[in-house]
Amino acid sequence: MAYDLIVIGTGPGGYVCAIRAAQLGMKVAVVEKDKTFGGTCLNIGCIPSKALLYASELYEEAGHKFGRMGIRVGEPALDLATMMKFKDEGVDGNVKGVAFLLKKNKIDSFQGVGRIAAPGKVEVTSADGKVETVETKNIVIATGSDVAQLKGIAIDETRIVSSTGALVLPKVPEKLLVVGAGVIGLELGSVWRRLGAQVLVVEFLDRILPGMDLDVAKQFQRLLQKQGLTFKLSSKVTGVDASGAKLKARVEPAAGGAAEAIEADVALIAIGRVPYTQGLGLDTVGVKTDNKGRVMVDSRFATSVAGIYAIGDVIAGPMLAHKAEDEGVATAEIIAGRAGHVNHDVIPNVIYTFPEVASVGKSEEELKAAGIAYNTGRFPFTANGRAKVNQTTDGFVKILADANTDRVLGVHIVGADAGTMIAEAAIAMEFGASSEDIARTCHAHPTLTEAVKEAAMAVEKWSISM
Ligand SMILES: Cc1cc2nc3c(=O)[nH]c(=O)nc-3n(C[C@H](O)[C@H](O)[C@H](O)COP(=O)(O)OP(=O)(O)OC[C@H]3O[C@@H](n4cnc5c(N)ncnc54)[C@H](O)[C@@H]3O)c2cc1C
Repeated sequence: MAYDLIVIGTGPGGYVCAIRAAQLGMKVAVVEKDKTFGGTCLNIGCIPSKALLYASELYEEAGHKFGRMGIRVGEPALDLATMMKFKDEGVDGNVKGVAFLLKKNKIDSFQGVGRIAAPGKVEVTSADGKVETVETKNIVIATGSDVAQLKGIAIDETRIVSSTGALVLPKVPEKLLVVGAGVIGLELGSVWRRLGAQVLVVEFLDRILPGMDLDVAKQFQRLLQKQGLTFKLSSKVTGVDASGAKLKARVEPAAGGAAEAIEADVALIAIGRVPYTQGLGLDTVGVKTDNKGRVMVDSRFATSVAGIYAIGDVIAGPMLAHKAEDEGVATAEIIAGRAGHVNHDVIPNVIYTFPEVASVGKSEEELKAAGIAYNTGRFPFTANGRAKVNQTTDGFVKILADANTDRVLGVHIVGADAGTMIAEAAIAMEFGASSEDIARTCHAHPTLTEAVKEAAMAVEKWSISM
């Protein structure tokens, strides 16, 4: 039987696209090479990492904060195996949820590696080698991404690990070397630091979190250092010798110079991710990719071949689950003849450490580079009543608004619950709000969100609580 749509890959891009297409009346099937649905995000990404971040944060609070609040629980002890089980249960619940939703929406699933044999033809090779060809009017490539490798360093997922191995370490390493100060390295570095590892983060650039607002990155680095993470910036890891009981990493200044040897028990390579298109047959059908191997699409997610679309990590843009999801919805709607659209200027970005870091829109550096005049409103959590009473005063809210129109161009938050608070900024920006719109919107008291309102007030210098 011929389908209206076959989606290859069931990460947040793929499964969401399939469900939206089924809602719109299409006959849909998904192809997934892994045993479970949900892709990187549910199996080895967002979900397991957040389970460990949550559990390790509570472990740290139990050790350091409970006593101050008059809660006596004694010295907390780590049962890592149970913590891992807690994480696995969370993953299991989520992947089963996707299986349920696919079934509920009457979406067929094929387990195996999908290859586009021709436009309208997807060949599925299952684990036992059986090959089946399925016909379809449209194809969506949602094959996601894979770990970027560091030249000359072989990931074995036991001592030299990617994020995947770092989510299943059987014991807390005494010394953890994190290569790369991006989101994944800092999140997983924080997990293992809280559980007792000495963590050193080596970063090629002279700053952490490349691409994020510099002010935010600097403050965040100071906070992480206060927590015990150490950083070696402007440095590169050029090799890891795994022949002895301890790993010996060769670290050199980024600009060149004498190398030093740094010992570690585990090295986490977290230098980014690359699009995954292996075995898809893109060359055969003529689907074009760019110089980074990403599938090229137009603003309607159409590739260079009619009837073939692509979404999520495999195309350009931030590698984020919610970006993939929104592209999945938009593409299903476009295929159904509707006006699907994603506003790529308003994609929030969150780091789920403590405190959290969240941003949406432009950074100061981007505004300066584009020559856009802007006003800044900044409000620290030290002046927010709820943060004071919770003793979570680290961080600030910063709002960047167009100097001529007052339209909000970027919002950056370092602070407890920043990831939840950024939704308010995203909605405001999606509606084209001015900073005054936020400043004059009544915010409940006492909440951390009052700091967003006060930062908006600070744009025109009438913040009340500072
Ligand atoms: C440790 C970690 C933490 C992360 N945390 C967050 C977070 O907190 N928030 C956030 O927004 N993002 C996070 N991400 C990023 C997020 O996981 C990705 O952006 C998201 O999963 C991309 O979704 P996708 O649908 O494009 O692809 P993926 O989730 O990668 O899914 C692609 C799917 O396609 C399948 N596939 C590939 N090729 C084929 C083929 N030929 N045939 C059949 N199936 C195929 C794969 O098996 C996979 O299931 C994290 C990533 C990692 C690694």
